[in-house]
This record gives sequence, structure tokens and C-alpha cells, in this order.
Amino acid sequence: MAKRKKNEAIPQPTSKFMKVKCEKCKNEQIIFNKPASTVKCLVCDAVLVKPTGGRIKESEVRVIEVLD
Ligand SMILES: [Zn+2]
Repeated sequence: MAKRKKNEAIPQPTSKFMKVKCEKCKNEQIIFNKPASTVKCLVCDAVLVKPTGGRIKESEVRVIEVLD
């Protein structure tokens, strides 16, 4: 049986979803933490997150819960 080498890079699952709260209407919505496009609130159409080219900063949104 071949053992996995310790120095071998194991791809980490970096994609995550998180539950955020809309500041405007208090709607709770699950969003991807690496959005490729602007994510709007499904209720009031307010912009929740803008694409950053990477992870969104958790300080920029009202994160309620991070989901695995
Ligand atoms: Zn809203």
C-alpha cells in the first residue's frame, strides 16, 4: 500500500458558504464566500457582497454563521 507523502500538497477545500444578514431588511441568506458576481438580497435587492476576486472579507458583511 502506497502511503501518502507528508509533503504532498493536499488540495484544501477553500470554498465555503456562509449565512449573512441583510442590513436593510434583516433577511438571512446563504452566500458563497468567493462570489464571482455581485450577490443581492433576494428580498429587497440590496447588494450583499461584491466580487473581490477572492474571499470576501467577513468584516464587510454581517456574517451569522459559516457553513462547511
Ligand atoms: Zn434585504
